[in-house]
Amino acid sequence: MGVSDRVSWERCPSCGGPAAAGWQASTGPDGLLVGEDLVEFDCSSGCSLLLREVTETFRASGRMP
Ligand SMILES: [Zn+2]
Repeated sequence: MGVSDRVSWERCPSCGGPAAAGWQASTGPDGLLVGEDLVEFDCSSGCSLLLREVTETFRASGRMP
């Protein structure tokens, strides 16, 4: 963990266990906050997941815009 602005606990899409998700605020060209990007994902069971896969899972579940 280091680059994240915020950390939340999420359910790992692979094993269903708790995982720490790191979020970084994303801003549009005008500097306004438009959302958050997933920048780190650390499953407590040690699953190795691609950030892209986790992001897609969250998007599909309505967790992210
Ligand atoms: Zn896992």
